[in-house]
Amino acid sequence: MAENEITLKVAEAISQKDVGQGLARLDPNVMDDLGIHERDLIEIVGERRTAAIALPSQTDIGLGVIRIDGLVRKNSGATIGGEVTIRKAKATEAKKVVLAPTEDNIRVRGDVRGLFAGKVMVQGDIIGSQIRAPRPSMNMGFGSIFDELMDFTPAMKEIKFAVVSTNPKDIVIVGPNTEVQLHESPVDVSKIEGVGNLVDVSYEDIGGLKEEVKKVREMIEIPLKRPELFEKLGIAPPKGVLMHGPPGTGKTLLAKAVASESDAHFIAINGPEIMSKYVGGSEENLREYFEEAEENSPSIIFIDELDAIAPKREETNGEVERRTVAQLLTLMDGLKSRGQVVVIGATNRPDSLDPALRRPGRFDREIEIGVPDSEERKEVLEIHTRNMPLADDVDLEKIANTTHGFVGADLESLCKEAAMRVVRRILPEIQNDEEIPKEVMEKIVVTGDDFKTAQKE
Ligand code: ADP
Repeated sequence: MAENEITLKVAEAISQKDVGQGLARLDPNVMDDLGIHERDLIEIVGERRTAAIALPSQTDIGLGVIRIDGLVRKNSGATIGGEVTIRKAKATEAKKVVLAPTEDNIRVRGDVRGLFAGKVMVQGDIIGSQIRAPRPSMNMGFGSIFDELMDFTPAMKEIKFAVVSTNPKDIVIVGPNTEVQLHESPVDVSKIEGVGNLVDVSYEDIGGLKEEVKKVREMIEIPLKRPELFEKLGIAPPKGVLMHGPPGTGKTLLAKAVASESDAHFIAINGPEIMSKYVGGSEENLREYFEEAEENSPSIIFIDELDAIAPKREETNGEVERRTVAQLLTLMDGLKSRGQVVVIGATNRPDSLDPALRRPGRFDREIEIGVPDSEERKEVLEIHTRNMPLADDVDLEKIANTTHGFVGADLESLCKEAAMRVVRRILPEIQNDEEIPKEVMEKIVVTGDDFKTAQKE
């Protein structure tokens, strides 16, 4: 290895404030050794190559780790526990960069090129921007005004862009002379050269559930990534994992996170939907899903509300259910790809499941996902306010302490509702078709009162 580089072990970002900023936290001694100063650019090479801004991490001295968030991990082609090589980097000003949004329901209008000024990128990177877009469900018929607002509305999620190409094809920075070309419509990121699986959810997006994440990683991520380990030891990696707990506690979120962190193909099946939509064809459909999973392995098949597909056989009179359970069991027994396909079933009524499903070789591991305590609620609130401009009087700890019984989904709604209050408040001050005045823009902050009122509703 060259003198000016070092290989480090990848760890997750600790602070929510670091997430989405394109940062890498390093041992300050390592930074000294490599001549890297605070906020210098570094190159991070895993299976891919990307760049990030270096900051010191005083708590990591001597540990040999680099802390990067889900996006930087994805862009560098590395996962937690894996290795990357880093060195100091220099970015040249790009002549041209071509970008495209990555999500279906996003259309970019107007000149938003200024948003990318100063951003560092490599072809194939997925980058965040400060544009915030409403989730589709939040488009409440405000029509064109809402479209105008979309660039500025808080509470919404950050849009991600794929870097389709750069000239030169190197680490580049968007400078005053860079031509920024923006696709209006999303691109299929899997078609762009060099882009990996698009990260949707990373472990940093999960509040609380530390033990659960650890278990999921051991049960699912390690077998998916290192099947040979299990083979050598002569133990069968799990085929099925059952997650149980109340709705809205993050079961789906956790399944998605483990899929995207282990670069696995993700197939989501909704129990009731498959039973109702395809009466008569649900066995056939299940079979197709399993085929898709085997063809694209490593894969995770996530079956939400498993109890709808596989209730206790004595509890169901339906022939369809009987046949579907039998089919699911056959498919799981037939999984041959050495742990490269894992089925995660979610239910909030584990006792109502057909016991045949829980025999060895089927859903023989269980993870209970519980309701969050106040510390965990605070983490969830931090995640869902990550992109919001919050007023100083917003005290997340206090909100966490007064939301006993709220699950993750409730806390997310609370944050959105608080932000919607801001939208409603400023809407009358905005003229159709006009740019939002600066003094109005400055009022776009979510206050403690917004949270208080939202909580009462
Ligand atoms: P479940 O599958 O347990 O019913 P979901 O994973 O679908 O719950 O949760 C719905 C939404 O609620 C998630 O997309 C996420 O935005 C939010 N949420 C739930 N649990 C958490 C959590 N532990 N941390 C952060 N957000 C959460």
